[in-house]
Amino acid sequence: MKMHNFYAGPAILPKEVIKEAAKGALNFNQSDLSILEISHRSKDFTEVIESAEALIKELLHLPKNYHVLFTTGGASTQFFMTPMNLLNDNETAYYVNTGTWSTKAIAEAKSFGNLVELASSEDKGFNYIPKYKMPSSGKYLHLTSNNTIYGTQFHHFPKGNLPIVCDMSSDFLSRPIDVEKFGLIYAGAQKNLGPAGVTVVIVREDMLGTVRRQIPTLLDYRTFVKKGSMFNTPPVFPIYVSMLTLKWIKAKGGVEKIERMNKSKAKLLYGELDKNPLFVPNIPNKRDRSLMNVTFQMTNPKLVESFLAEAGKNGIVGIKGHRSVGGFRASIYNAMPRSSVKVLTELMSDFAQRKG
Ligand SMILES: *Cc1c(COP(=O)(O)O)cnc(C)c1O
Repeated sequence: MKMHNFYAGPAILPKEVIKEAAKGALNFNQSDLSILEISHRSKDFTEVIESAEALIKELLHLPKNYHVLFTTGGASTQFFMTPMNLLNDNETAYYVNTGTWSTKAIAEAKSFGNLVELASSEDKGFNYIPKYKMPSSGKYLHLTSNNTIYGTQFHHFPKGNLPIVCDMSSDFLSRPIDVEKFGLIYAGAQKNLGPAGVTVVIVREDMLGTVRRQIPTLLDYRTFVKKGSMFNTPPVFPIYVSMLTLKWIKAKGGVEKIERMNKSKAKLLYGELDKNPLFVPNIPNKRDRSLMNVTFQMTNPKLVESFLAEAGKNGIVGIKGHRSVGGFRASIYNAMPRSSVKVLTELMSDFAQRKG
């Protein structure tokens, strides 16, 4: 059956990428060896990691003073690795709290320095992006660009005195960014790039080497810079598949083109939610809505089970909301074809005509 994969993460990857990855798992570069069984020091693999790095630099137009690192431990490890590497005990970092992931980042950072929660949207169940002002001094400002669970997204980043440290796990490479505003960006691969197991970190050179504490070798960004992310064995297969996705993005016309496609998909789905009497979007303010994770409810709770059953019959999977929010969440990452979003909106519209 033709499936329409709306899972939030691990999530949809381009079909072409999965086919190519499957080939590499059997016979990589006509070597009669699998990518899974070759040395990470072999020429075949060093080409993969170097090309992944080069593609990220190219797609995001990174200036020369930014490093691209491949780390492990997920985005959750970055919650403590960033303050450990960037923040001294007596320095201040500002965090904007826009949901579960920001809350976790804040909890971890507290042990490394002075933490100020600059703004929060917790008062309304994280259903909006709070107003905040870039502080005039401090070490960095931490934002979560896309709130995977609640369905909000920052559509604007302030320019100012502090470098922004940003968790872009769920909207990485979904749109162009003005990278000069950012001191550090991190993203777990499994939302928009590749399989779980690798986390991309982009860091500006001058952010490093300013803390006094002793950092364990493998938690020190400088180790990754010095060793080309190969101090120890990197997650070979996740990096390989991520490289294939990066090539796919480039072939599609880059993040500029990807953004246009993402906007068109989001417009289709929010458009249906705004006009369909059986459904309501969770995020009232259109300016705060995520283009990646579309969260919504049904006006009549009695119809939820039958809608989910019909969705299942149509090959639609992964639209149940996060357990902490309930309702529905349709994740429409880069790799999601517009035709799959159309299958969902047509079912919603048809369902409303029959049951509304
Ligand atoms: C999924 C997610 C995380 C957690 O990622 P792990 O790789 O599981 O640690 C953190 N931040 C955001 C925004 C996410 O979407």
